[in-house]
Amino acid sequence: MVQPSEPEFEQALNEVYSTLKASSLFEKEPKYLKVLDVVQIPERIIQFRVVWENDNHEVEVNRGYRVQFNSALGPYKGGLRFHPTVNLSILKFLGFEQIFKNALTGLNIGGGKGGSDFNPKGRSNNEIRRFCYAFMRELSRHIGQDTDVPAGDINVGGREIGYLFGAYKQIRNSFEGVLTGKGLTWGGSLIRPEATGFGLVYYVEQQIKYATKGKEDFTGKRVAISGSGNVAQYAALKVIQLGGKVVSLSDSKGTIISEEGVTAEQIAVIGKAKIAFKSLEEIIKDPAFETHPVKYIAGARPWIHVGQVDVALPCATQNEVSGDEAKALVAAGVKYVAEGSNMGSTQDAIDVFEGERLATKSASAPAVWYAPGKASNAGGVLVSALEMGQNSQRIQWTSEQVDSELHKRMINLFEESIKYATQYSKESNKESLPSLVMGANLAGFVKVADAMFDHGDVWA
Ligand code: GLU
Repeated sequence: MVQPSEPEFEQALNEVYSTLKASSLFEKEPKYLKVLDVVQIPERIIQFRVVWENDNHEVEVNRGYRVQFNSALGPYKGGLRFHPTVNLSILKFLGFEQIFKNALTGLNIGGGKGGSDFNPKGRSNNEIRRFCYAFMRELSRHIGQDTDVPAGDINVGGREIGYLFGAYKQIRNSFEGVLTGKGLTWGGSLIRPEATGFGLVYYVEQQIKYATKGKEDFTGKRVAISGSGNVAQYAALKVIQLGGKVVSLSDSKGTIISEEGVTAEQIAVIGKAKIAFKSLEEIIKDPAFETHPVKYIAGARPWIHVGQVDVALPCATQNEVSGDEAKALVAAGVKYVAEGSNMGSTQDAIDVFEGERLATKSASAPAVWYAPGKASNAGGVLVSALEMGQNSQRIQWTSEQVDSELHKRMINLFEESIKYATQYSKESNKESLPSLVMGANLAGFVKVADAMFDHGDVWA
């Protein structure tokens, strides 16, 4: 077998194209076939050198990137990731996913992604600041509030956005909404830090409601979560608020399992310590873990260790659920799987979840219902687009306003996926729930493709 040269990007491409091809879209409307060749090539990729000085006054050098993938629906929009694994395959996969995710929000944002192979772990605050300034020295030529609006992603949070914004403002002499996830006193939106995690849980609420015909909600549900960064923290808090029990969290070194459920206080402790890149293994020495002890499993992901679960929310990184782990989750009774991470499930895992969904014998029998990140984690970028709107108006909305807009739009997005999946599905089992992966891909793709036709990027 030929090894793909961009494995993550080819995986993301295949996930979208295989579900579109399994639907009746191209039979009903063959003009859309032409879009496939065009939309898979980024409009532009910027690659650059980032030279910066570490605390020992030595030269350090990293690779910087911005993939400006598609601007059919608005300025390029998507996060920046700082991680040693960052390369073009990763950023093209993330940028490609972002196009359709952003389309699903119903707001005017195109798709992009960027970042660097810089590893901020173990770096001082001064080193992180100097890196951000050096990175923005080049990036600032290619972005702007109406061109391309980056945000955070893995290892890029409020602190990094602050330094990047400060650098942009100095270099361009322009105070503008060029980044989202900004501080609350200089143009940030309330609820932006919470948005991805909250939005994910709002989405799953709709899944539960739809599958049980309104009979169930999060009350009493056991919820396995991976990751312990921004997305995992706020997803966990919202689950607790809605009466569910968070039975796991994890980081790159290991997993914590909590039989009685992680507490909001423990999550606050994790949130603080993670800014300083502390590991869960160290964090659980805090007194907050004495009264409500957790089990720590080194080197493990949660999925095969969580015991009986109702909901699984992968919130760490790509390909964090393997086929075997998906089977273990099914055996553990999982009913709803929704990704807070981007492409959290491998194709093998998706095949397991989708296979279970299709095998449903009757509408009342339990089935596993999988939601891809591009739908279920869209709340983050959705509130980013609301932040752009507030910046254009030069006002700040209240938390209640932003949260209710997020909630409403996550419901719309869920219903849109159901509508498309139902309209274009060729599945013969009428008892099974609609495919949320097919529905999300169709809804996002058609919206982007129609705009590309309008602009003459592709023609029939
Ligand atoms: N990195 C986030 C995502 O994967 C947020 C992007 C944004 O807000 O622009 O969607």
